[in-house]
Amino acid sequence: MTVLDPGLGLGAGATPTAAAKRCLADLALADGHPLFDVPRSASNLATPDVERFLAYSRRFFDARRYTNTGPLSVELERRLAHLHDVEHCVTFASGFWALVLALRALALPGRHEVVLPSLTYRRMADVARWASLVPRFCEVDPDTLAIDASTVEPCLGPDTAVVLAVHPIVNCCAVDEVEQLARARRLPLLVDGVESCYETFHGRKVGSFGNAEVFSLHASKLINGFEGGYLATDDGDLAAKLALQRGFGFNGHDNVEHFGINAKLNEIHAAMALANLDELEDQVVDHRRRYHTYRRALAGIPGLRLLVFDEREQTSCKNIVVELLDDWPLTRARTLELLQAEGILARAYYAPALHQRPTAYRTIAGPLPVTERLAERFVLLPSGSRVSLTDVTAIGGLLRFLATSGAAVARPGGDLTEAAVAAGAHP
Ligand SMILES: *Cc1c(COP(=O)(O)O)cnc(C)c1O
Repeated sequence: MTVLDPGLGLGAGATPTAAAKRCLADLALADGHPLFDVPRSASNLATPDVERFLAYSRRFFDARRYTNTGPLSVELERRLAHLHDVEHCVTFASGFWALVLALRALALPGRHEVVLPSLTYRRMADVARWASLVPRFCEVDPDTLAIDASTVEPCLGPDTAVVLAVHPIVNCCAVDEVEQLARARRLPLLVDGVESCYETFHGRKVGSFGNAEVFSLHASKLINGFEGGYLATDDGDLAAKLALQRGFGFNGHDNVEHFGINAKLNEIHAAMALANLDELEDQVVDHRRRYHTYRRALAGIPGLRLLVFDEREQTSCKNIVVELLDDWPLTRARTLELLQAEGILARAYYAPALHQRPTAYRTIAGPLPVTERLAERFVLLPSGSRVSLTDVTAIGGLLRFLATSGAAVARPGGDLTEAAVAAGAHP
């Protein structure tokens, strides 16, 4: 989801417009009134106090420092380095370009493959391609939904240039064992920590693992800078190199030192990110409240399992993912169709997997049965700052209704009015 979804600015957070569904004829797909007139999405869209955002913005505006490592992006880098407990932070125009430039910089010369999971962020194979690497997809662990040492190891070979570990959207991957494996094999390790930005792993801040970790400041993510990304690292040489590359490779005035690109974070984005960073702790309290409301609202629904956060760690509790178990009465496609008609912008969690979609460039994958099974089972539910606790309870109520109304609504694209009549819902 992006901020451009129509209507997201309009009255989101209001109470549901329709009463709870009591019979099939109430479902939006059967011409009932949708649960939400303004769709609820899984995009965070954190909105800081506008005066705070304007106060930051005034600083760059008055100084006429709009971009090119202005005062706000420098302050943001300092504060993000502190957040992740690392020496250096380098900001970028997006998480995507941070990943591309970091992969390029870390890849061992003369080698061509990057090992990464297939069950992951939709554009990750493109990242590899932009870095002139060939993606080699590995399996994931069915419990964490992420890579671990045992799934990475079989994919390592003489042409492995770098490993890209990606944290899943609930909790973390076993990043310590992947780090050990990479070190033992003398391979660079880049971590995509986008969805684990606030988390700790065994008490250590995410951001400090591998050679470097990459994060996003996109409006849908935990820290909203409209758009943007950054890299956290303790490697000063890597940070310096990437800081040059993101700004055309210039070192000083018109002195091109490096292969470069324009991928700088500008000052108004830094102002937004700083304003949200000031409010991050309060925002996380809200995420936690929503998550615990989901836990109550979904408790005991047959066929549905909420992925739980490990609250022994520091965790944002931002993303809400459910698994559709074997006794859930509907296919995932039908579930999404029914939910979306109600204004619940639920999404398939990382499906299809990357190796299952055609690309215009070469990729490598052995059989990935675990990934393919998992790619059928998960649904991302609405969360983030625009979703109220009342919304969460209403979404839980609808899922409970679907769990028990079962087979009558199961047929994809089927006419629900007909099903409603058959089920005796119409007089
Ligand atoms: C969103 C996302 C990215 C890309 O970040 P952008 O700032 O949108 O380019 C990369 N990895 C993961 C896991 C993401 O969810």
